[in-house]
Amino acid sequence: THDSMSADTTTTATCGYCATGCGLRLHLKDGEAVGLTPETNYPVNLGMACPKGWEALRVLDSAERATQPLLRDSGGELTPITWDDALTSFCEGMKSVQAKHGAESVAFLSTGQIACEEMAFLGALARFGMGIRHCDGNTRQCMATAVTAYKESFGFDAPPYTYDDFEQSDCMVFIGANPCIGHPIMWERVLRNPNNPEIIVIDPRRTETAAAATQHLQLQPKNDLPLLYAIANELIRRDYVDHDFVQNHTHGFESLRDHVSTFELESVCQNAGLSVDAVSQAIESIGRGNAVSLWWTMGVNQSYQGTRTAQAIINIALLTGNIGRPGTGANSITGQCNAMGSRLWSNTTNLFGHHSFESDADRAKVAEALDIPVERIPTTTSWKYNRIIEGIRNGEIKGLWVVATNPAHSWIDQGDVRELFDQLDFLVVQDMYQTTETCAHADLILPSAGWGEKEGTFINSERRYGLLKKVRHAPGQALADFQIFRGIAHRWGLGDMFAEWTSPEAAFRIMQRASRNQPSDITGIDGYEQIDRCGGIQWPWSQEQADGGFEPEQQRRLFADGHFFHDDQRARLIVDDIDLMPEPADEDFPIVLLTGRGTVSQWHTQTRTRQSPLLRSLYPNQPYIEMNPRDGDALGIDHGDLVRVQSRRGEAEATACLTHSVQSGQAFMPMHYDCTNRLTLSHFDPHSGQPSYKDCAVRIVPVLSS
Ligand code: SF4
Repeated sequence: THDSMSADTTTTATCGYCATGCGLRLHLKDGEAVGLTPETNYPVNLGMACPKGWEALRVLDSAERATQPLLRDSGGELTPITWDDALTSFCEGMKSVQAKHGAESVAFLSTGQIACEEMAFLGALARFGMGIRHCDGNTRQCMATAVTAYKESFGFDAPPYTYDDFEQSDCMVFIGANPCIGHPIMWERVLRNPNNPEIIVIDPRRTETAAAATQHLQLQPKNDLPLLYAIANELIRRDYVDHDFVQNHTHGFESLRDHVSTFELESVCQNAGLSVDAVSQAIESIGRGNAVSLWWTMGVNQSYQGTRTAQAIINIALLTGNIGRPGTGANSITGQCNAMGSRLWSNTTNLFGHHSFESDADRAKVAEALDIPVERIPTTTSWKYNRIIEGIRNGEIKGLWVVATNPAHSWIDQGDVRELFDQLDFLVVQDMYQTTETCAHADLILPSAGWGEKEGTFINSERRYGLLKKVRHAPGQALADFQIFRGIAHRWGLGDMFAEWTSPEAAFRIMQRASRNQPSDITGIDGYEQIDRCGGIQWPWSQEQADGGFEPEQQRRLFADGHFFHDDQRARLIVDDIDLMPEPADEDFPIVLLTGRGTVSQWHTQTRTRQSPLLRSLYPNQPYIEMNPRDGDALGIDHGDLVRVQSRRGEAEATACLTHSVQSGQAFMPMHYDCTNRLTLSHFDPHSGQPSYKDCAVRIVPVLSS
């Protein structure tokens, strides 16, 4: 089926895996995709794609696809039913829970993998229609920290950069980020940088990115926040501060200066296991750089002090005036293909379009945009994901609707979550595949169409709306999530309220109205055709900008005028005290376990990537754990031995991979294997609610063969 030679035409769509948002040229025969190649004219990827993108069509053909609704019968078996019966079961099941336990006893958990229009529909349907109060997305697991950090520092969740910045920096700092593996096309753009840039990586592991860097600060885990404060202190002490910028565009310099002055370079380096000379060299590179950009991903976000760590990065950019100019910025790289869409449109902890549930004016504006009574809009925000899980434990949540995510695999301390799912009265899972770990606990499975089988928009890491297109028929009876939400709205009795939501593009028009005068205003976009023609359009693109004679491609980087989104237009310099690691290594559990992305061919819980024989051939199919050879020697473990990894929550078997990429006393397991989150410790960043996946204590013992 992947025969591009027989195609009669092509069309371009945004890739549906990661937040890079590459353009893929789909080769069509009789309107159906028969192959794909990377789009050479797309401004994101410039003709490149990673293996996941190349295999995007292949994973649609899997025998594991959900092709018809399934209902668990009285014997505990999942049995095929019609869509008519499925919609009835959904509505009766949820309404019965609400009648028994209250409207707020039903919650949903959503995703960064469906289209903006689908997120918007789900959030509006659930919160304005069905009376659901508590809902969140799996973006809580990856991006919530960056959202909170930006909101507090800039006044709005606004990653400021464009991918051109990868090519325009002369000094790039990657903190807790491994773009070689996590964002390979972004890394390709780093490699295109003609400035021979200094590349500084701050990471406890010698990752692929660290190995390619010019400087690697291989610190001990969770020493990143003190290190960033010490760097800020030295930048001030060595007078690398952009005083004009700080004076005119920030707030809080004196308290930052006083706070970081206690982080002396020598003592911080000693605790972090770093040489003063190495850190000093990095400080000089940052201080002397003309265009310095700082980039972070999950090593920062998935941390118990993630928000403050992200803000320590933002502080450095602000102090040195490295923002709003080409090649600069404090830049969070996003994970999922539409995590950025979720941040704006999921209507969970932020009101539709990143408004506030608590604001009368915001509620009135959203009510007008959606043409619904304002009384329909709750006055309080939702519980975050971790509180919803606690709600299940406490019996406050009895019905759960899981859309395109797999928490029974991915949530921290997963054994606990699986037990809790079995306590629910009614669990509905809506997914492309019926074989996820979460589906195993479902009472009802709703089969959904995937990327390539439906329309809508995704927003990538640089705030670019890109189009996804229907170039294949979904298998069996699977429906686009948008159509499923439409069916539920009608069956629930909300047909009139959602009469305008006839198609994804109609929903996009509603979203545009709600975006008016927001920092993320998109009222200037003519429609899907313009997004397609322009190779995606970055927000903001307001009617005012469009009327001003600009072209969308001219409006790319934020804060060029030094104006931030707080009322006084100043960014905030935010600092805090250091917390200790909640579960440090000790005598019983002497190794700190780090988790993260394994290879470029794996994605999250492998729901999709394992469907491709080619992708499967590019990574070990069995779990593995990277250990330092010195620890292997001490424990009697050879490379390739089977080992048992034990934490206070559970245990996992994995193959030992002895490598100097991890330091002695640490180990690394990829998150893609089902067993990894049996081990992780359930603790969270207090500001964002994001789980701290990167630090728990384990012991490793050999599994003796009989
Ligand atoms: Fe798709 Fe991301 Fe790979 Fe680009 S880098 S092809 S968006 S998975």
